Amino acid sequence: MLPTGHRTLVTGGAGFLGSHLCEALIRRGDAVLCVDNFHTGTRSNIAPLLGHPRFEMLHHDVTLPLDVEVDRIFNLACPASPVHYQHDPVQTTRTCVQGAMNMLALAERRHARILQASTSEVYGDPEVHPQPESYWGRVNPIGMRSCYNEGKRCAETLFFDYRRQYDLDIKVVRIFNTYGPRMYVDDGRVVSNFIVQALRGEEVTLYGDGSQTRSFCYVDDMIEALLATMEMPAEFTGPVNVGNPAELSMLDLAQLVLRLSGSPSRIVHRPLPPDDPKLRQPDIGLARQALGWQPNVPLDAGLEKTIAYFRALLNT
Ligand code: NAD
Ligand code: UDP
Repeated sequence: MLPTGHRTLVTGGAGFLGSHLCEALIRRGDAVLCVDNFHTGTRSNIAPLLGHPRFEMLHHDVTLPLDVEVDRIFNLACPASPVHYQHDPVQTTRTCVQGAMNMLALAERRHARILQASTSEVYGDPEVHPQPESYWGRVNPIGMRSCYNEGKRCAETLFFDYRRQYDLDIKVVRIFNTYGPRMYVDDGRVVSNFIVQALRGEEVTLYGDGSQTRSFCYVDDMIEALLATMEMPAEFTGPVNVGNPAELSMLDLAQLVLRLSGSPSRIVHRPLPPDDPKLRQPDIGLARQALGWQPNVPLDAGLEKTIAYFRALLNT
């Protein structure tokens, strides 16, 4: 490990966001330890980093204790797609809660600063729109999404209790829908689903009537926000919303993907999953003011890059 940069642990580092974060950290001079159990992450995501002298990969499950010498921890380990987090919901809660406890214990032991990748799902199906950090949310505690939503909410509680009880240097970032290259082909989230279906000429599966909204942030913008939050002084704990406030309906997204990919696919309707939030848009006032951050990549431009990535991957 080099003495100059930080010694940074990224849990979930072989996943979509984690692999981009590892790359950015290596670029800025950190020594990076990537921890992943390859549940939804892949070796190919981190393949470009594997030979790097400041990069190390540890196959490990965060639900088990870990002791390594680090001074920064980004805790991203957790499947983010509803399809994957609902596949083994008990394990999802365990990853959110036990994983957070293990990483917080590590941070305390090593006096490390720790950032939690929380989520807009802590707001559930919101009655306040757009969602500010002060909104406590409307979450079903016993539904299909609860393993993730309540797991992430409990993880936030643990972070703030570690702050109050042990004066730990914590940062909690509530990530809103983020997309880009390296999403898994079978990830199940809407952007990758629509693009893969469009490029393969398959039916584009729109759940419900498509009037539900989301606000999509391109991965490069998100990584900047995560790095900026980690560098904030100890007084700044968050929670802070990060995402792109440009909101659109899923029907508009489907039509946009078809247009940008030049696909002949047709849109078909499928049942809306239970508890699917009807509206979602981040209020990013705090991120703008405290971090001096705002997203820069418009949806069209981000989708074009993502479509190009999947086109190359699928050879279409
Ligand atoms: P992802 O599924 O691509 O990555 C998650 C990574 O965590 C994978 O590499 C997976 O193998 C790993 N992982 C899962 N369980 C683990 C465990 N028990 N031990 C070790 N590794 C484990 O998802 P992503 O989109 O990169 O999301 C990263 C983080 O950001 C997640 O915590 C997610 O909840 C949060 N987040 C993402 C979004 C988004 O839109 N991408 C939105 C809100 C929150
Ligand atoms: N969705 C869809 N078709 C798909 C996948 C998702 O219409 O093939 C919808 C889903 O019902 C939700 C939105 O797109 O309203 C975003 O879903 P995603 O799974 O990406 O993330 P969420 O924000 O719901 O966690």
